[in-house]
Amino acid sequence: MSFRPETVRGAPGTAAAPGQIDYRLARNAIVKEFRRGRLSRLDVCDAHPELLRTAAGIGTPAGQPCPICEEPALVHVSYAFGPRLPPGGAAFAGPAELAKLTRRAGDVACYVVEVCPGCSWNHLARTYAAGRRRRASST
Ligand SMILES: [Zn+2]
Repeated sequence: MSFRPETVRGAPGTAAAPGQIDYRLARNAIVKEFRRGRLSRLDVCDAHPELLRTAAGIGTPAGQPCPICEEPALVHVSYAFGPRLPPGGAAFAGPAELAKLTRRAGDVACYVVEVCPGCSWNHLARTYAAGRRRRASST
């Protein structure tokens, strides 16, 4: 089974996420459950090896420590989904790469995943739409 960002904890069931959605509340709820002892590390630190590899390669610093193990190297990994992109999405490192993807694929749904290389904690941070028509999706 290959890694699919839409299977990341907290992700909606579909890759066609319109507009911008922040998943901080859902993420904080999981962290709270972990701190209360209702979830174990095994439950929440299960990042797919491919996600960890991508995080090590092109992850950008999240600017905060891991909520589970306090490791300072928490990173964000971005993926784009679109009709002309691979089914598993296309990971991209920054705005320039995203622009290249949207030139090729038109409108895409972007997923930003928070990943800890130390303990394998992972959770969807936010989604947003990018591409030529992104400004029309503000409703
Ligand atoms: Zn961690």
